[in-house]
Amino acid sequence: MARYTGAVCRLCRREGKKLFLKGDRCYSEKCSLEARSYAPGQHGQGRKKSSEYGLQLRAKQTARRFYGVQEGQFHHYFEVAERKQGVTGDNLLRILESRLDNVVYRAGFASSRAEARQLVGHGHFEVNGHRVDIASYLLKGGDEIAVCEKARGFEKMKSVIEANSARPVAEWLSVDRENMTVKVVALPERDQIEAPVDEQLIVEYYSR
Ligand code: SF4
Repeated sequence: MARYTGAVCRLCRREGKKLFLKGDRCYSEKCSLEARSYAPGQHGQGRKKSSEYGLQLRAKQTARRFYGVQEGQFHHYFEVAERKQGVTGDNLLRILESRLDNVVYRAGFASSRAEARQLVGHGHFEVNGHRVDIASYLLKGGDEIAVCEKARGFEKMKSVIEANSARPVAEWLSVDRENMTVKVVALPERDQIEAPVDEQLIVEYYSR
Protein backbone atom coordinates (compact mmCIF):
# COMPACT_ATOMS: atom_id res chain seq x y z
CA MET A 1 0.00 0.00 0.00
CA ALA A 2 1.34 3.45 -0.91
CA ARG A 3 2.45 5.85 1.80
CA TYR A 4 -0.17 8.49 2.71
CA THR A 5 0.86 11.87 1.31
CA GLY A 6 -2.22 13.97 2.18
CA ALA A 7 -2.65 16.46 5.03
CA VAL A 8 -1.46 14.69 8.16
CA CYS A 9 -3.72 16.64 10.52
CA ARG A 10 -6.66 14.87 8.88
CA LEU A 11 -5.26 11.61 10.30
CA CYS A 12 -5.41 12.99 13.85
CA ARG A 13 -8.92 14.27 13.27
CA ARG A 14 -9.95 10.90 11.86
CA GLU A 15 -8.65 9.11 14.96
CA GLY A 16 -9.86 11.84 17.31
CA LYS A 17 -6.40 11.89 18.95
CA LYS A 18 -3.22 13.88 18.73
CA LEU A 19 -0.74 11.74 16.83
CA PHE A 20 2.05 14.36 16.88
CA LEU A 21 2.80 14.15 13.18
CA LYS A 22 3.75 17.77 12.56
CA GLY A 23 6.51 18.74 14.94
CA ASP A 24 6.24 22.04 16.85
CA ARG A 25 2.76 22.80 15.59
CA CYS A 26 1.42 19.79 17.53
CA TYR A 27 2.44 21.41 20.81
CA SER A 28 0.95 24.79 19.94
CA GLU A 29 -2.50 26.35 19.71
CA LYS A 30 -2.26 25.95 15.96
CA CYS A 31 -2.96 22.21 16.29
CA SER A 32 -5.90 21.50 13.95
CA LEU A 33 -7.43 19.06 16.40
CA GLU A 34 -7.84 21.86 18.95
CA ALA A 35 -9.90 23.89 16.48
CA ARG A 36 -11.77 21.05 14.75
CA SER A 37 -12.07 18.04 16.99
CA TYR A 38 -14.30 16.08 14.65
CA ALA A 39 -13.56 13.68 11.81
CA PRO A 40 -12.73 15.22 8.44
CA GLY A 41 -15.07 15.08 5.47
CA GLN A 42 -18.68 15.92 4.74
CA HIS A 43 -20.07 13.54 7.36
CA GLY A 44 -17.32 14.07 9.92
CA GLN A 45 -19.55 15.75 12.48
CA GLY A 46 -22.31 13.19 12.06
CA ARG A 47 -20.28 10.06 12.87
CA LYS A 48 -20.93 8.90 16.40
CA LYS A 49 -21.12 5.23 17.45
CA SER A 50 -18.65 2.59 16.33
CA SER A 51 -19.10 -1.18 16.22
CA GLU A 52 -16.69 -3.43 18.12
CA TYR A 53 -14.88 -4.08 14.86
CA GLY A 54 -14.79 -0.32 14.17
CA LEU A 55 -13.08 0.32 17.51
CA GLN A 56 -10.53 -2.41 16.88
CA LEU A 57 -9.82 -1.09 13.40
CA ARG A 58 -9.39 2.47 14.67
CA ALA A 59 -6.97 1.27 17.39
CA LYS A 60 -4.85 -0.46 14.76
CA GLN A 61 -4.94 2.55 12.44
CA THR A 62 -4.07 4.91 15.29
CA ALA A 63 -0.95 2.91 16.16
CA ARG A 64 0.05 2.55 12.52
CA ARG A 65 -0.28 6.28 11.89
CA PHE A 66 1.34 7.30 15.17
CA TYR A 67 4.47 5.32 14.32
CA GLY A 68 4.23 5.92 10.54
CA VAL A 69 4.28 2.24 9.64
CA GLN A 70 2.80 0.71 6.49
CA GLU A 71 0.04 -1.88 6.75
CA GLY A 72 2.15 -4.90 5.70
CA GLN A 73 5.01 -4.05 8.02
CA PHE A 74 2.64 -3.44 10.91
CA HIS A 75 1.06 -6.87 10.41
CA HIS A 76 4.54 -8.39 10.28
CA TYR A 77 5.41 -6.73 13.61
CA PHE A 78 2.23 -8.18 15.09
CA GLU A 79 3.19 -11.69 13.97
CA VAL A 80 6.66 -11.28 15.50
CA ALA A 81 5.09 -9.92 18.72
CA GLU A 82 2.77 -12.92 18.89
CA ARG A 83 5.65 -15.38 18.62
CA LYS A 84 7.64 -13.70 21.40
CA GLN A 85 7.21 -14.63 25.04
CA GLY A 86 5.09 -12.29 27.14
CA VAL A 87 2.04 -10.14 26.43
CA THR A 88 1.51 -9.71 22.67
CA GLY A 89 0.28 -6.09 22.91
CA ASP A 90 3.29 -5.07 25.02
CA ASN A 91 5.66 -6.87 22.64
CA LEU A 92 4.11 -5.08 19.68
CA LEU A 93 4.56 -1.65 21.24
CA ARG A 94 8.12 -2.48 22.26
CA ILE A 95 8.97 -3.44 18.66
CA LEU A 96 7.44 -0.20 17.35
CA GLU A 97 9.34 1.83 19.93
CA SER A 98 12.62 0.14 19.04
CA ARG A 99 12.56 1.41 15.44
CA LEU A 100 15.48 3.73 14.71
CA ASP A 101 13.22 6.55 13.43
CA ASN A 102 11.19 6.41 16.66
CA VAL A 103 14.30 6.52 18.85
CA VAL A 104 15.71 9.48 16.90
CA TYR A 105 12.41 11.29 17.44
CA ARG A 106 12.05 10.28 21.12
CA ALA A 107 15.60 11.48 21.76
CA GLY A 108 14.71 14.93 20.39
CA PHE A 109 16.94 14.66 17.31
CA ALA A 110 13.96 15.27 15.02
CA SER A 111 10.71 17.21 15.33
CA SER A 112 8.51 14.35 14.14
CA ARG A 113 8.86 10.70 13.19
CA ALA A 114 8.51 11.72 9.53
CA GLU A 115 11.49 14.05 9.89
CA ALA A 116 13.40 11.33 11.74
CA ARG A 117 12.74 8.94 8.86
CA GLN A 118 14.09 11.50 6.43
CA LEU A 119 17.24 12.20 8.45
CA VAL A 120 17.92 8.49 8.88
CA GLY A 121 17.24 7.88 5.18
CA HIS A 122 19.83 10.51 4.30
CA GLY A 123 22.42 8.51 6.19
CA HIS A 124 22.95 10.98 9.05
CA PHE A 125 23.02 8.37 11.84
CA GLU A 126 25.27 5.58 12.98
CA VAL A 127 24.39 2.66 15.22
CA ASN A 128 27.29 1.23 17.23
CA GLY A 129 29.72 2.99 14.88
CA HIS A 130 28.15 1.81 11.59
CA ARG A 131 26.07 4.02 9.35
CA VAL A 132 22.43 2.89 9.18
CA ASP A 133 20.01 4.49 6.74
CA ILE A 134 17.04 2.19 7.35
CA ALA A 135 14.34 3.90 9.40
CA SER A 136 12.77 0.59 10.44
CA TYR A 137 16.07 -0.76 11.84
CA LEU A 138 15.23 -2.35 15.21
CA LEU A 139 17.44 -1.39 18.13
CA LYS A 140 18.26 -3.39 21.26
CA GLY A 141 19.12 -2.46 24.81
CA GLY A 142 22.71 -1.15 24.92
CA ASP A 143 22.78 0.14 21.33
CA GLU A 144 24.41 3.52 20.80
CA ILE A 145 23.18 5.89 18.14
CA ALA A 146 25.18 8.91 17.01
CA VAL A 147 24.82 11.64 14.44
CA CYS A 148 27.53 10.83 11.89
CA GLU A 149 30.66 12.95 11.74
CA LYS A 150 29.70 14.89 8.61
CA ALA A 151 26.13 15.67 9.74
CA ARG A 152 27.34 17.06 13.10
CA GLY A 153 28.40 20.24 11.32
CA PHE A 154 25.09 20.69 9.52
CA GLU A 155 23.16 23.78 10.65
CA LYS A 156 19.91 21.89 10.07
CA MET A 157 20.92 19.15 12.51
CA LYS A 158 22.05 21.64 15.16
CA SER A 159 18.87 23.68 14.87
CA VAL A 160 16.60 20.62 15.06
CA ILE A 161 18.33 19.40 18.22
CA GLU A 162 18.20 22.90 19.72
CA ALA A 163 14.51 23.34 18.82
CA ASN A 164 13.60 20.04 20.48
CA SER A 165 15.76 20.43 23.57
CA ALA A 166 12.76 21.30 25.78
CA ARG A 167 10.78 18.21 24.79
CA PRO A 168 10.98 15.47 27.43
CA VAL A 169 13.17 12.53 26.45
CA ALA A 170 11.90 8.97 26.91
CA GLU A 171 13.23 7.66 30.22
CA TRP A 172 14.65 4.48 28.64
CA LEU A 173 17.03 6.57 26.55
CA SER A 174 20.18 8.35 27.66
CA VAL A 175 20.81 11.41 25.50
CA ASP A 176 23.95 13.50 25.16
CA ARG A 177 22.89 16.51 23.08
CA GLU A 178 26.33 18.09 23.04
CA ASN A 179 27.93 15.04 21.46
CA MET A 180 24.76 14.21 19.52
CA THR A 181 24.54 10.65 20.83
CA VAL A 182 21.82 8.56 22.39
CA LYS A 183 22.02 5.22 24.15
CA VAL A 184 19.16 2.75 24.47
CA VAL A 185 19.49 1.92 28.16
CA ALA A 186 16.94 -0.89 27.82
CA LEU A 187 13.88 -1.42 25.67
CA PRO A 188 10.84 0.09 27.43
CA GLU A 189 8.19 -1.52 29.58
CA ARG A 190 4.58 -0.67 28.73
CA ASP A 191 4.30 1.98 31.43
CA GLN A 192 7.31 3.79 29.94
CA ILE A 193 5.67 4.11 26.53
CA GLU A 194 3.62 7.22 25.91
CA ALA A 195 1.38 6.38 22.99
CA PRO A 196 -2.35 6.99 22.39
CA VAL A 197 -2.80 3.31 21.62
CA ASP A 198 -5.06 0.58 23.02
CA GLU A 199 -2.92 -2.42 22.15
CA GLN A 200 -5.50 -4.91 23.45
CA LEU A 201 -7.93 -3.77 20.74
CA ILE A 202 -5.19 -4.32 18.16
CA VAL A 203 -4.68 -7.87 19.41
CA GLU A 204 -8.46 -8.42 19.11
CA TYR A 205 -8.42 -6.94 15.60
CA TYR A 206 -5.84 -9.47 14.39
CA SER A 207 -7.45 -12.35 16.32
CA ARG A 208 -10.82 -12.10 14.55
FE1 SF4 B 1 -2.12 16.15 14.77
FE2 SF4 B 1 -0.01 17.71 15.09
FE3 SF4 B 1 -1.85 18.30 13.22
FE4 SF4 B 1 -2.40 18.59 15.85
S1 SF4 B 1 -0.89 19.73 14.63
S2 SF4 B 1 -3.73 17.66 14.31
S3 SF4 B 1 -1.29 16.82 16.73
S4 SF4 B 1 -0.49 16.51 13.28
